[in-house]
Amino acid sequence: MSALSHLFAGERFAVAGLGRAGLPAARALVAMGADVTVWDDQEAARAAASDLVVAEPDMAAIDALILSPGIPHLLPKPHRLAEAARAAGIPILSDADLLYRAVRKAGSAARFVGITGTNGKSTTTALVAHILGRAGVPVAAGGNLGDAALSLGILPNGGVYVLEMSSYMLERLAALRFDAAAMLNLSADHIDRHGDMAGYAMAKRHIFDRQTAQDVAVIGCDDALSREMAADHGPARLISISEADPPIATAATLPGSHNAQNIAAATALCRALGLADDVIAAGIRTYPGLPHRQELVAETDGVLWVNDSKATNADSTARALACYDRMIWIAGGMAKEGGIETLAEFFPRIQHTLLIGRDAPIFAKTLTRHGMAFTMAETLENAVTLAARLIPTLSPAPQAVLLSPATASWDQFTGYDQRGDRFRDLAQAVAGGGI
Ligand code: ADP
Repeated sequence: MSALSHLFAGERFAVAGLGRAGLPAARALVAMGADVTVWDDQEAARAAASDLVVAEPDMAAIDALILSPGIPHLLPKPHRLAEAARAAGIPILSDADLLYRAVRKAGSAARFVGITGTNGKSTTTALVAHILGRAGVPVAAGGNLGDAALSLGILPNGGVYVLEMSSYMLERLAALRFDAAAMLNLSADHIDRHGDMAGYAMAKRHIFDRQTAQDVAVIGCDDALSREMAADHGPARLISISEADPPIATAATLPGSHNAQNIAAATALCRALGLADDVIAAGIRTYPGLPHRQELVAETDGVLWVNDSKATNADSTARALACYDRMIWIAGGMAKEGGIETLAEFFPRIQHTLLIGRDAPIFAKTLTRHGMAFTMAETLENAVTLAARLIPTLSPAPQAVLLSPATASWDQFTGYDQRGDRFRDLAQAVAGGGI
């Protein structure tokens, strides 16, 4: 393999958006010999990049613009740098695309697995990486989850990259070809960024771009839009999976039918990579779980406190509500289109709802219409205190206090992870310790 410091010698990139993905990507590109200019509209973010060349990018002087996933290049309104790049005919790329180019330039034949869908991406990514790692395969997982793609380093020939791909990342690929790609499911989310469901599905479909007959396309066929995609996914070998497929193994860290879909997808991907079923099953059984996804954080007198802060839309919250027969539900934040209307079938399981965040009044309307008991708790702190007080008043006792907000978190938190961490701390304080 050639020295990494020459991989991008002579290539000129601008990196815009210096957050969790942009900053490490810029530093990795510099380490690989590229000529890199970085920019962020926030003064504080620019200050954090003082080791780099900070300047508003000049499109005449760059070969590609790396735009952070959080910055729109089309909807709801293209960022001015995206507009300038398009006008100048400069490609807008995701750092995952540059990782692929770096790996090939380095002479490594490491394979690439891509995972997308509305829900279950992180779980399936982490599960595939866990199964591969346990099987002794050199593996690096990241992308939308965990480490930015470009900071994953160069794996040897037998290695496998497992990349969680958001729709925003998928719209910014030019070279990356996945040996095995999975599209888990499609439901309304991020419509603001894609215009409508057709636009959203179109973005997700890019996971199969550039695939050949040697590659594998895994598609979850439990919703109509995904089934449509299965009928037109390109030349790769199609493996249809469903949450109804009998799992080859299960784990306590993978509860519910939604995780059956994730297990089925991970199994199909690992089989495509040549792993034997007994090796895959052993990996599934030992999967440790991820924080903020139905994470059990505390227990008080037989009541489970469950942190599902990652449930940022109604569809993923439905999966958590389905796991308990009686519960106190904490919900609210920045609502997605449709609110919680689709969750009504689960309402009989909910003994009391505690609403927090900006769009609590929107959720309150739905709950009122269905005759549900709820309290406007406003903050997570209040909600946890109120939940602890409510438990002894409910008969029969609830099985769980479930934080599964069905909303984005940015009205009150820096992200779903901060919201979940806060809930864990609060619940463990009530319980006098963790589990
Ligand atoms: P993503 O990375 O796509 O946001 P995660 O694996 O982080 O997905 O899971 C987020 C939430 O979505 C979980 O808390 C769970 O409640 C729900 N979920 C997980 N997998 C699925 C699935 N296959 N279908 C529907 N909902 C799911």
